[in-house]
Amino acid sequence: MIIHIKKGIKQDKIEELSGKLSFVSFFNGRQHVAITAASVRTLPRELEPITDDFFVMETDIQLASSSYSKEKVGFKLTNIDIGGGSGTTTMITGPCAVESAEQIEECASFVSQQGLKILRAGSYKPRTSPYTFQGLGEDGLKLLDNVRKKYGLQIITEVKDSSHVDLVIEYADIVQIGTKAMFDQAILRRCGDSQKPVLLKRGFGATLQEFVQTAEFIMCRGNEKVILCERGIRTFENKTRFTLDLTGVAFLKEKTRLPIFIDPSHAMGHRYGVPDLTRAAVAMGIDGLLVESHPAPELALSDPAQQLNFEEFSQMFKTLPPVAEAVGRVLQ
Ligand code: PEP
Ligand code: MN
Repeated sequence: MIIHIKKGIKQDKIEELSGKLSFVSFFNGRQHVAITAASVRTLPRELEPITDDFFVMETDIQLASSSYSKEKVGFKLTNIDIGGGSGTTTMITGPCAVESAEQIEECASFVSQQGLKILRAGSYKPRTSPYTFQGLGEDGLKLLDNVRKKYGLQIITEVKDSSHVDLVIEYADIVQIGTKAMFDQAILRRCGDSQKPVLLKRGFGATLQEFVQTAEFIMCRGNEKVILCERGIRTFENKTRFTLDLTGVAFLKEKTRLPIFIDPSHAMGHRYGVPDLTRAAVAMGIDGLLVESHPAPELALSDPAQQLNFEEFSQMFKTLPPVAEAVGRVLQ
């Protein structure tokens, strides 16, 4: 149950009741909002005098649910609108990882030439093997900061564990939580306490319910700026790296009010399918995309098989505006 607390009720009073009745609460800029488990279906008597309004929810998809509010969650990154019924589909591209000053400079220059505003690149890479490239760490964040200033770009970069979450929040314009970190409570809590937008990737073994509930961990601490990103789930199929769950995307569009992005690169795992999957993703009428591109993918230090080279990316990118238009969206 979501409870809107009457204006003017003191924080101390809410904290006292929160301990007693086990609910979570945050201040949304206008009023305090308290959330109990969805299994609570009648308003606790102690809360009656301080309640303005309350919403009985079906499941613990609560703050993110379209049945709580029809108003889509959206936010602005400088002059870029993300979600919120803005009707835009935002393309984000860049390499899997920041590898060197030269490489990220080439990528930033390419993003800017394409007329795009957001560069992706990881500096803390959650690799499957401990013996492969793990990312440049803070040095990579500094390289991203340099190109952000030089090209006037926004940066999305990932956090892989809680030891560097503060640093990533400090440098990033959007904090990316990867598929393997989706369940990391310390990361989720810290992101919930910040006001930085977060792109949360679906765990490859997570159900849609589990996925959206991890977004709730961030939202219930007062940070509503959460993007849900479908990036492929593990199925019995092994010819492709993962299986892009577009049926899941249809569910998220209908049942949640958060911005939805699709990452076709990690789902496919091979360059050859990425342009088709990107077009399919745009046709879903989503809020944005995350596509990996690299100046020389065959030399990439991570995910070499799936990154598009610049020629491949720009050929594909040209084909997207009419697809977006057909579903009433503007590509940006
Ligand atoms: C990435 O975006 O490079 C990445 C590691 O993604 P995922 O967490 O989806 O595997
Ligand atoms: Mn990658």
